[in-house]
Amino acid sequence: MSRLSVRAPLAWFGPGRLVPDARVVCDGGLISAAGPASEIARAEREIDVDGFLMPAAADRHVHIERSDPVAVLHGGVTAVRDLGWPANRIFNVADASELVSFNGPLIRAAGPILTAPGVYPTRAAWALPGTGREVTGGLEAAVAVRELAAAGATAIKVSLNAEAGPTLADAELMAICDAAALAGIPVTAHAQGAGQVERALGAGVQELAHTPWVRLSDDVIGAAATRMRWVSTLDILSFGRDTPEIRAALDNLRRFHDAGGQVSYGTDLGNAAIPAGIHTRELLWMRDAGLTNEEVLGALIRSPVVRDAPADLIALGSNPLEGLTAFGDIRLVVRSGRVVIG
Ligand SMILES: [Zn+2]
Repeated sequence: MSRLSVRAPLAWFGPGRLVPDARVVCDGGLISAAGPASEIARAEREIDVDGFLMPAAADRHVHIERSDPVAVLHGGVTAVRDLGWPANRIFNVADASELVSFNGPLIRAAGPILTAPGVYPTRAAWALPGTGREVTGGLEAAVAVRELAAAGATAIKVSLNAEAGPTLADAELMAICDAAALAGIPVTAHAQGAGQVERALGAGVQELAHTPWVRLSDDVIGAAATRMRWVSTLDILSFGRDTPEIRAALDNLRRFHDAGGQVSYGTDLGNAAIPAGIHTRELLWMRDAGLTNEEVLGALIRSPVVRDAPADLIALGSNPLEGLTAFGDIRLVVRSGRVVIG
């Protein structure tokens, strides 16, 4: 693979690192150098972008087969994490996404959602058969985790949806968390209904796949902020309209963020009318919850621009630190050191 350098009048490499007249060198799918253009030698091939250069985006909650991978990539998202799809489909797609020939983002996947028999998501309208994997008892739950980890899962998703029927028992949930810890992968929960966030916290679940949309107490928020990451998925509660759910979620996220909780960008792409690519309205909701524009960018990116980070870059027509609507004008997308658009 030939080397490529990208030069731009202004670049943001990560939190606190705004660089005028910057150059980034991509080599073999990784970043080999980045800094002021006067200090970094150009590669054989150089692109001069008239815009704002920054790391590309990762969407940490998608259902990629319900969307268009090409549109996702062209919209500035070079990596996604699929949080619920049949194992016999999604792990093949994830493997294929590693290839240079794949026209889409890098795909990581949880595989099927572990759940109690007969409930969400096994009968959800959007879900193919196999999107849920029913488990009964701690032993069966642990076996399911080990099988998914062996198949390539990078996270384990559990459904704790008390509004859809019975949920996994505490013993099953704890067996899942223990087995996932042994496999070295995090557990992410769909927590819905009274007391479910509290149960996830108690069992050691590291992440919520959605910002909760029922008001949580300050005590629960405080505990969550020290032990969990939350994936935003705010716009699915609103789709641009004012709803009780978006108000409650913004109130929860504001307190979670104030308490030091880590927020990651995720859209639940595949859910209704969420568009492929960077979804500006999701970013604007995050700002409404109290994140600064720079914190929103930090939550959005796959990785800061540093040596040996993935060579995934985007360029915008204007500076998003001054206005997040800049994401509506994407001028360059580089994935793995290859120019996708630009
Ligand atoms: Zn989802």
